[in-house]
Amino acid sequence: MEKKKQKTVVIGAGPVGSLAALYAANRGDDVEIYELRSDLRDPSTTPLNFTKSINLALSERGINAMRHAGQPKLIDHVMAATIPMRGRMIHGRRANGDLYEESQDYDVHGRSILAIDRGGLNKRLLDILEEMPNVTFFFNHKLTGADFRRNKAWFEVRDDQTASQGQRAREIQIDFDFMIGADGAHSAVRYHLMKYTRMDYQQVYIDTMWCEFQIPPRTTAPSASLTSKFIISPNHLHIWPGKEHMFIAIPSDDGSFTCTLFAPAAFYEHLESDPSGALIPPFFDKHFPGVTELIPPADLIAFFHRNPHLPLISIKCKPYHYGSSVVIVGDAAHAMVPFYGQGMNAGLEDVRILFDILDKHARMDEFSVRANADASAARERALAEYTAVRVPDAHAINDLALQNYVEMRALVLSPAYRLRKFLEET
Ligand code: FAD
Repeated sequence: MEKKKQKTVVIGAGPVGSLAALYAANRGDDVEIYELRSDLRDPSTTPLNFTKSINLALSERGINAMRHAGQPKLIDHVMAATIPMRGRMIHGRRANGDLYEESQDYDVHGRSILAIDRGGLNKRLLDILEEMPNVTFFFNHKLTGADFRRNKAWFEVRDDQTASQGQRAREIQIDFDFMIGADGAHSAVRYHLMKYTRMDYQQVYIDTMWCEFQIPPRTTAPSASLTSKFIISPNHLHIWPGKEHMFIAIPSDDGSFTCTLFAPAAFYEHLESDPSGALIPPFFDKHFPGVTELIPPADLIAFFHRNPHLPLISIKCKPYHYGSSVVIVGDAAHAMVPFYGQGMNAGLEDVRILFDILDKHARMDEFSVRANADASAARERALAEYTAVRVPDAHAINDLALQNYVEMRALVLSPAYRLRKFLEET
């Protein structure tokens, strides 16, 4: 008798949910993806102001997870759209007033991390999923309730049907075998999971806000000595350290750089206190020397006023699953501050490890006396192992991310740090 296909529902079509859907679809599951927002590939509905950084650092953790997704064209497409960053470029001003740049390589063997456009990566994953016959998308579907004993979930839907009937939203109910919650830091899946399991939960907002800016591509005509469309080195993650705050820049394909100002809330309040923005360029001149030569002061002010000023949250919880019904991955399980460049990478790695463990337990049943056992029994054992294996690692990455803020904004300047680095490398 042919085995009934497993129905896997993924909540959240961000990078982690999309990769989880791909792994599940490759294993032959009937996959349904429910996403609160509209399709990010639809230019008419995508909000211009993303609430997530536009450019990210992709590293081996994330690349390896995509390599194992069973879709060779995914990794080829992704890698083609990246820019290698071989180290940090520290920017500052010497005592004599001169600006300086200092390159600090990440790796003695010259290995790099990669700059990638977050939206571009997400779109690529959605495009590949779209071609798979066993995958269905449900955009504009917000998870509002879940019963993990009866495997039922409820969604608020806003679509053409609700609009044509003059309703704000309608509710639907679905059944599932397995739910993967990849719905981000403010996860609804995690909220409902807490009602079924004794979850330890810790959330911290650090006293740092972030806001995005942009360094434009070079506009002057290329000459023999200036052939690059990039105004500063494209192969570095640029840092203007400032002890209590910092400004960073990551290269984009079009020659621009996506920049982020990280600073305590009090600095933001100070800069906001003059609505004309007059305090902003002098603040940059004092703390991030050279930036006003890369971003004209009027643009600095415009970015500061136009782009949101967002908080940074760090979340730890345990366990990540309940029975055989549900597991949370990515930011839903372990949102972290961005200073280690590992939030998305760790989320993608969750997916690889989760499916490795699921496969292992399914195989063990296939070759044992439990050959005819319900697949949910193997899944229940697998999810328990996943929580046991993944929680300590995820908590460690969260802690490292918090510590790395001090390294990035201050220690990179200290003589002790330089000495340690020198000793490590020689
Ligand atoms: P998300 O990207 O948050 O996606 C969750 C999805 O779920 C969203 O599409 C959302 O609309 C949907 N959703 C939410 N609620 C519901 C609901 N109730 N029902 C249905 N759908 C729902 N990481 C790195 O690896 N490298 C970096 O360099 C890096 N830099 C960063 C810089 C900044 C400033 C910030 C803020 C983060 C950075 N990160 C970085 C972290 C990275 O952005 C996140 O870890 C990553 O986006 C998490 O992906 P996700 O798919 O788990 O969650």
